Amino acid sequence: MESHVVFVIAEILFLCIFLFIMLFGPSPTFKNTIVSQAYDFLTDGMWKKGYNALRTVCGTTVANSASRLVRCLTSEAHPLIQIFYFVILTAGVAVFLVNGYPRLPTPLLGPFQTYVTIPLTIFSAYASFYLASFSDPGKVTSKNVARCLEVFEYDYMLFTPRTCPTCLIIKPARSKHCSLCRACVAKNDHHCAWINNCVGHNNHRYFLAYLVSTAFITIYGSYVIFEILRGEVNERGVWNMLVREAPGAPTRKLLSRDEPLLVALLVFIALACILAIVFGTYQFYLVLMGITTNETTKWEDIHAIIKERGYIDICRPQKNRGSPISGSSGGNSATNVRQRRPPRASTSLVPNSSVPSWRDEADDESGGEWETLETIRVRSWNELHNIYDRGAWQNLLVTLFPPKIN
Ligand SMILES: [Zn+2]
Ligand SMILES: [Zn+2]
Repeated sequence: MESHVVFVIAEILFLCIFLFIMLFGPSPTFKNTIVSQAYDFLTDGMWKKGYNALRTVCGTTVANSASRLVRCLTSEAHPLIQIFYFVILTAGVAVFLVNGYPRLPTPLLGPFQTYVTIPLTIFSAYASFYLASFSDPGKVTSKNVARCLEVFEYDYMLFTPRTCPTCLIIKPARSKHCSLCRACVAKNDHHCAWINNCVGHNNHRYFLAYLVSTAFITIYGSYVIFEILRGEVNERGVWNMLVREAPGAPTRKLLSRDEPLLVALLVFIALACILAIVFGTYQFYLVLMGITTNETTKWEDIHAIIKERGYIDICRPQKNRGSPISGSSGGNSATNVRQRRPPRASTSLVPNSSVPSWRDEADDESGGEWETLETIRVRSWNELHNIYDRGAWQNLLVTLFPPKIN
């Protein structure tokens, strides 16, 4: 096989492995496997080793400054990656407009594509990026918290009533505090560095539009550039377009002799479309399943607990009928009933843990009426039910047209 073919395949493989590690490394499914070890190394170990090496070579002051810089870049909100994306997008569009667009229309890329489809594709890439970046993801405030509590019911499994220790307001079900945005965000999916914003209840649709338009501009862009270069491709063959013999040297370069910028752009966006398709497919899959990225970890935790212990206890007020347990009267589950005082809004029921549990509040001196709690011991994963999953079509609709919370 030609060396440049091996090079391109190796590049794609490397990208896929990197993506897989970053997506699934934190998952309990891959706990104590090479995937989680690689993730730990990339997100933690590598930086520690780098710090020690820098301290040995340049001294503690320089190493500490570098460490502070890395901490600032990784744990505080900043628009660097967002600007990086904008620059890359604009550079790609500029290269195309200068080197490719003036050759249109062609027999295969007619006036409609030239004057409508291509400008619309470019516009939608910028518009969706802007909307996803700068729209309110659905921050929970003292003004809208009551409405959020109406819209999102607790399942008493992934989400139980508790107060955010930072915002000091009760956290609605499906919300999550984002330390970068410094707010609790309703139906928080994740914080996305590319848009420097959380993806939540209000802007999830814009984020999906951003993923779709990014995937589309890379796929369609690859096609358009390929068509523009078709004449040369027909003449020289596709692989000869991608490489050329460096004059006087035995090595090959991944650039065309005559169209270096257009061919470089074609290779870049063809690789970028892998990223866009992988992230896009994963996001749409989660949306159709009625799960947020944040909730995938919680479900995996529950799965791991059942696998490890053989059961999990779900504790909820007896009046609660939005049951996460399907067929709890039969199967292997067992029910236990007891009473306690209802928790105050400021009381955390699940302290410092994403593992579903219920702290006994029987010694709570807040007064008020007693309520009945039932603890259901679930022994099988199949008995659990995601109450937020209303069927693929409804899940998609509610993401595209979310109920108002402001
Ligand atoms: Zn909060
Ligand atoms: Zn955020």
